[in-house]
Amino acid sequence: MSQTAALSDLTSIQIGGTPAEIYVAKTRDDLVEHTLELWRSGDDWLVLGGGSNMVVADDCSDLRVVKVENRGIENIRGKDDSKVTLRVQAGEDWDEFVAYTVEQGLAGIEAMSGIPGTVGAGPVQNIGAYGQELSDVLLRLEFLDYETHEVAVIEAKDLGFGYRTSVIKRGRPGVITWVELELQKLDGLSRPLYSTQIAADLGVEMGDQVPLVDVRKSVLKLRASKGMVLSKNDPDSVSCGSFFTNPIVSDKVARTLPSDAPRWEDEDDEGLTVKLSAAWLIEAAGIGKGFSLPGSGAAISSKHTLAIVNRGGATANDVLQLASYVQLQVSNRFGINLVPEPNLIGFD
Ligand SMILES: Cc1cc2nc3c(=O)[nH]c(=O)nc-3n(C[C@H](O)[C@H](O)[C@H](O)COP(=O)(O)OP(=O)(O)OC[C@H]3O[C@@H](n4cnc5c(N)ncnc54)[C@H](O)[C@@H]3O)c2cc1C
Repeated sequence: MSQTAALSDLTSIQIGGTPAEIYVAKTRDDLVEHTLELWRSGDDWLVLGGGSNMVVADDCSDLRVVKVENRGIENIRGKDDSKVTLRVQAGEDWDEFVAYTVEQGLAGIEAMSGIPGTVGAGPVQNIGAYGQELSDVLLRLEFLDYETHEVAVIEAKDLGFGYRTSVIKRGRPGVITWVELELQKLDGLSRPLYSTQIAADLGVEMGDQVPLVDVRKSVLKLRASKGMVLSKNDPDSVSCGSFFTNPIVSDKVARTLPSDAPRWEDEDDEGLTVKLSAAWLIEAAGIGKGFSLPGSGAAISSKHTLAIVNRGGATANDVLQLASYVQLQVSNRFGINLVPEPNLIGFD
């Protein structure tokens, strides 16, 4: 089924021109067949889920879009009574899926409540929040590979997951048609909490297990306070969420920062690395909440310095100019390069 619309109507930051075609795929087979047909045409193409992690150019009239809307959740098997494997079609809404798992008493993704978008886009940047990441629970996915034009099942270990990244995000084009996740039955309780913010909100200790519904409620409340839940009533949610990832730097670089800069240390194959807070760096570089460049429709969220919002009528260039300005200020002040998290579509 084809439809005509501007991508500004289909993206959370409400930016993007009208593409040549938007084909809505309602089943897995339709998604595969139409995408293959599109690839054979040689035209520019885009896979669109919920449009919550992309900034599309104002002119994208050559682009042909496949919108992923295949739905369905199948309980396929569990390793034992305490583990449940679900196969979820890519077009399922992520947050509705999280709500379903919480209702079913299944633990593993409760802290990722409120992340907008589709299930199929989740593995692309290994979505995560409040101490949980999709890679913690993802077993495998089905992938239509642009290079081979073939469908293959890829195991999680082969997806090169990292912080907000995967082999797909790093440049293996294709389409995820379904994913399989393994969740746990813990008598209606969450996994041990890894978020100081949720623990503080619920008045419990880190590592405690609490009812899944309580975690979901707490996360939705915390996210809403930062403009991180899509809402018609919240102009700060007209965004892509975080515009920059938190930079990961060497211990040596981290030591050059002021002592009050938040930092999370991690030991990996390359030695000690330190994750920094992009929001802190932006504020410390002099860019506060609500900041905007003269004459621009884009601004820093009034609730969180990490989000760039469309205040109404912003162009794609307004967003990119503000993003570049933020990068420049942070780089000048701290010598650290902020990397954008959303996918930039249709720019040179
Ligand atoms: C208010 C707000 C808060 C957010 N908070 C978080 C957060 O806490 N944590 C987090 O990780 N992210 C967050 N995000 C970002 C976003 O929600 C996630 O990245 C989400 O997974 C994007 O899903 P989507 O369906 O909207 O993807 P889209 O924006 O439609 O697509 C994103 C990318 O994935 C590709 N893609 C989409 N579907 C498929 C598919 N089936 N197969 C292959 N490629 C595909 C697209 O081509 C594009 O490159 C937030 C965004 C907003 C607006």
